[in-house]
Amino acid sequence: MARVFNFSAGPAMLPESVLCQAQDEMLDWQGSGMCVAEMSHRGKEYMSIAAQAESDLRELLKVPANYKVLFLQGGASSQFAAVPMNLLRGGGAADYLNTGSWSKKAISEARRYCTVNVAASTEDSKFTRAPSQDELKLADGAAYVHYTPNETIEGVEFPYVPETAGIPLVADMSSTLLSRPIDVSRFGLIYAGAQKNIGPAGLTIVIVREDLLGQPIAGTPTMFDYKIHADNDSMYNTPATYAWYLAGLVFKWLKDLGGLDAMAVINARKAKLLYDTIDASSFYANPVQPDSRSWMNVPFTLASSDLDETFLKEAKAANLTTLKGHRSVGGMRASIYNAMPEEGVQALVAFMQEFERRHA
Ligand code: PMP
Repeated sequence: MARVFNFSAGPAMLPESVLCQAQDEMLDWQGSGMCVAEMSHRGKEYMSIAAQAESDLRELLKVPANYKVLFLQGGASSQFAAVPMNLLRGGGAADYLNTGSWSKKAISEARRYCTVNVAASTEDSKFTRAPSQDELKLADGAAYVHYTPNETIEGVEFPYVPETAGIPLVADMSSTLLSRPIDVSRFGLIYAGAQKNIGPAGLTIVIVREDLLGQPIAGTPTMFDYKIHADNDSMYNTPATYAWYLAGLVFKWLKDLGGLDAMAVINARKAKLLYDTIDASSFYANPVQPDSRSWMNVPFTLASSDLDETFLKEAKAANLTTLKGHRSVGGMRASIYNAMPEEGVQALVAFMQEFERRHA
């Protein structure tokens, strides 16, 4: 068996021990005689799996008691609509920070429901930095402030949590949740598609302060009403049962590793190794301002784009896969989420240095 180091932006690598445990439990979960995918979501076995996963996630993120944790479907893209539907609460406007491809998508969806005040934009610097706190021009009467702490495509990460003077802060944490500790109490709502640091695609996590629930705009579909899901423990309808179970195994893996403090130390080390390698070379380049560089997604270009295909082909032959950059940015992108082992980044760096020697 030759497992590769897969640098995909998502769906991405899962911890090998998690996959092995899922394999062990595939035909018979703990004496139930069933695969988890075959269980009723209302049966006692599955209810225990679901409750344990929620409790482990709460423990990892130290989620305060006045927040609900929802296990939904529809991806982060559905949240682009669900957030305004639920959080406008009678208001007609919201603040959005425009910092890259994903915040742009969130903004255009929100415009279907409200006036969007773009409180800061880094588009004129081609989304190569996070705006500073001083640059944020929050509007009077905005119902919430939305931002994307980590822009997956541009590889830009906020080095701070914005201050919003009491206005609920909403964060699309799809590509950063669980990569390091966060203070959940700073946020009104956090959402994330699972397919990076959490588990397989098909599951979407929402962490929301309870007092923000219960005032959806008229016409909100039942399935988009957070309160419905909160009141039903995310079992109003059939949830993504198997993805939820696998996410639970990932949470256990993280706890065994020492939780998010320990994960952050490893992630910082992986990112530093890769950025140091890029910065030490005149062959590779990363355009992002150093204080805004993502720990999770590292875009880089080669001295000539003519070499891109050769790079990708030779990398693949060295078991380093899915390094092609997003079509909108070009070049390469190495996504190094939690489950990417340090050896994967070491192997990538060694390959990059050797490639440079041969092609510079
Ligand atoms: N937001 C961010 C920051 C993302 O990285 C992604 C997916 N790459 C999305 C939103 C969209 O997520 P989904 O495909 O789960 O809808």
